[in-house]
Amino acid sequence: MAGKKIGILALQGAFIEHQQAITNCGAQAIQVRTARELDQVDGLIIPGGESTTIGKLMQAYQLDTAIKARYEQGMAIWGTCAGMILLAREIIGMNQPMLGLMDIAVVRNGFGRQVDSFETELEVDPIGRVNGVFIRAPYVERVWGPARIMASHERKIVMAEEDRLLVTAFHPELTGDKCIHEYFLKKVSD
Ligand code: GLN
Repeated sequence: MAGKKIGILALQGAFIEHQQAITNCGAQAIQVRTARELDQVDGLIIPGGESTTIGKLMQAYQLDTAIKARYEQGMAIWGTCAGMILLAREIIGMNQPMLGLMDIAVVRNGFGRQVDSFETELEVDPIGRVNGVFIRAPYVERVWGPARIMASHERKIVMAEEDRLLVTAFHPELTGDKCIHEYFLKKVSD
């Protein structure tokens, strides 16, 4: 793991916290803003933030095509919150720039606007108990094909994976618990 370089898409949103968490796991974290920086990494984290803003900036810097090309070549990608929205093949009721790589349909701000944020315990298969911090979070309405559900909260899917892709509706980078970052690092190594 120590030799692995993990890119954190640093266009907007909570990228510093992911950078810290990856460093705490003993891997190298690199902020990614250009296709050139993307070329150096073995895995990529797309952080939480505002999915419309991150999507537009990704297009403006031609990072969307670069990310898709690197994914085809074997790079692993983890999207948290806004990052999960950007990875989905379908964003229900919305038309916005996206990567559309994963067989999931997501609902933005799916826990209601009154409940801006909350924290709850989740049972993650195969990791175990994890504290989930949700901030204006989306959820996954359905998965298909090779996509697999890893955790749900109130019958809403909040974590899933598909091959080299991982998505969480919540923010593991805000809890100090490294287990999901370690899970992603294992995906990068495999
Ligand atoms: N509500 C945001 C969106 O729809 C996501 C929130 C987050 O990433 N914390 O893009």
